[in-house]
Amino acid sequence: MNPDLPPDHSPFKIKQMSTSQFVLASRPKGLPANEDFKMVTVDLPELKTGEILLKGMYYSVDPYMRGRMNDAKSYAPPFELNKPLYGGVIAKVVESKSDKFKKDDVVIGQFPWQQEFIVTEKEARKVDTNLAPASYYLGVLGMTGLTAYFGLMHIGKPKAGETVVVSGAAGAVGIVVGQIAKIQGCRVVGIAGSDDKINLLKQEFGFDEAINYKTTTDMNKSIAEACPNGVDIYFDNVGGEISDAVIRNINFHARIPLCGQISLYNTTEAPMGPRIQPMLLTRSVLMQGFIVGNFQEKFPEGIQHLAQWVKEGKLKTTETIEHGFENLPKALLGLFKGDNTGKMIVEA
Ligand code: NDP
Repeated sequence: MNPDLPPDHSPFKIKQMSTSQFVLASRPKGLPANEDFKMVTVDLPELKTGEILLKGMYYSVDPYMRGRMNDAKSYAPPFELNKPLYGGVIAKVVESKSDKFKKDDVVIGQFPWQQEFIVTEKEARKVDTNLAPASYYLGVLGMTGLTAYFGLMHIGKPKAGETVVVSGAAGAVGIVVGQIAKIQGCRVVGIAGSDDKINLLKQEFGFDEAINYKTTTDMNKSIAEACPNGVDIYFDNVGGEISDAVIRNINFHARIPLCGQISLYNTTEAPMGPRIQPMLLTRSVLMQGFIVGNFQEKFPEGIQHLAQWVKEGKLKTTETIEHGFENLPKALLGLFKGDNTGKMIVEA
């Protein structure tokens, strides 16, 4: 070694690759802020046999990630402080030391919020970009599409002529729920947070009626008017006062797939709502919470139906794409302000 050079300028040193990563900097109280995330630079280790080096293409941001920012036990473990956040990511293979993958394959998995990263071959699954655009595997043909399918078809069990109400209707899950309910021959009423979303649901996605929960002065009355025959299925994505009002209009033998409670994810104290049990009891209503993973064994059935409807043009999709890896926190926080229509995705 040349004694005039400092040690890290050794001509024999192999240049190590470094990349950007988002870590959880602090646990939010209430609505998360930008300061709760920190972008750091990390070195990538050498690729080992059975591993692949990936470059992130599309990152999914989802409301459930808010729960993982708390230090609380749930169905998904909490993110750790100063460790990367994780989520659904579509990535391209940059280098492979696995027989299962080759350079330029496109894969999906639960990956870190990191620009380039190494995973084992078991952690990645190939996606077929000839069948559908890669980003669809995070939305309509992925977790949110499957949530809509199983919640509605296996818990809601729609019958032609019934009335289906869906909250969070213009979001990734809701927009699919409404369209599947239409395919089943139901009357569909959506609830969403802007006039643009309301118009889109009715004009582009075939909803029979849609209610802007931010401008209606009487939610109970708006639902009663939009559902003259009452509500047979309420697909609940949001909880809170919207759900209280829908449940006031619930029919005998109605079904309520309890999918999400986004209106409560940032509350520091759970608000007191009406006692709904007498209504559920006297009207013989079924309310069932579910996590999409409950249906894992049936995923092929769900994907087959969703892909077929997409191919036939019966199930349309829409995405809100944020550009730039650095905008991951902004995109996640945007979910709580209604910034998205359809699936919220970050394109790196
Ligand atoms: P979305 O794409 O629907 O994005 C969130 C939307 O929620 C926003 O665009 C906003 O739309 C609405 N929203 C935000 N804050 C509020 C509020 N306080 N009151 C009412 N609406 C609000 O997300 P997803 O479709 O991915 O998820 C929808 C729900 O389903 C979430 O609660 C999520 O946690 C849950 N989920 C559950 C799964 C399961 O396995 N059970 C799997 C996937 C999702 P707007 O402009 O209308 O306010």
